[in-house]
Amino acid sequence: MLNYLENNKAENEVDEKWKVLYRKLKDGRYELAGLYDPNVPDEDYGDDLYAVNLSSVYGGEEYMHVNDQVWNAEGTTHDPKPTGVHTWIKFWSDHVIGGVVQCYVNDNEGHTCSAGIVGGHMVVDPNERHPQPGSNGKVRIIPICRTHNNISNDMYLSAPVTAVLLNRYYKAN
Ligand SMILES: [Zn+2]
Repeated sequence: MLNYLENNKAENEVDEKWKVLYRKLKDGRYELAGLYDPNVPDEDYGDDLYAVNLSSVYGGEEYMHVNDQVWNAEGTTHDPKPTGVHTWIKFWSDHVIGGVVQCYVNDNEGHTCSAGIVGGHMVVDPNERHPQPGSNGKVRIIPICRTHNNISNDMYLSAPVTAVLLNRYYKAN
């Protein structure tokens, strides 16, 4: 019977993809054992196998201030959304109750904000623009217009905002 690690069964019943299998060793460590196949019934897996969802999950919130420097994280397009979440801006507004969906970012070249606000994957350290998969709390979701979401230079916050941090960041490519 397959076990589930760091997430619950209900979550897995909805989200049947992006999982890998780990085998629990006698010394308590886990080793990568292969890919999960949703067509195989849980009963057919060995008791020593654990399934892990490969998608970023909610990792808390951080209040950020006007003029805080931010960068777009690179390579985040294919980050699978958490179970039941269809857009990253919905993910943000689900957690930041009452938060206004607008662009919170200005850049140093004076680009005008475009229509269409998305949940941008942002970092506050230029050395973390290529976030390590699996990292916790480095990547944050901030509402941003499509224009500013495509700028790779340093930018800054035009208004205070509560960022939603991602844990187990997973870019999937
Ligand atoms: Zn903007």
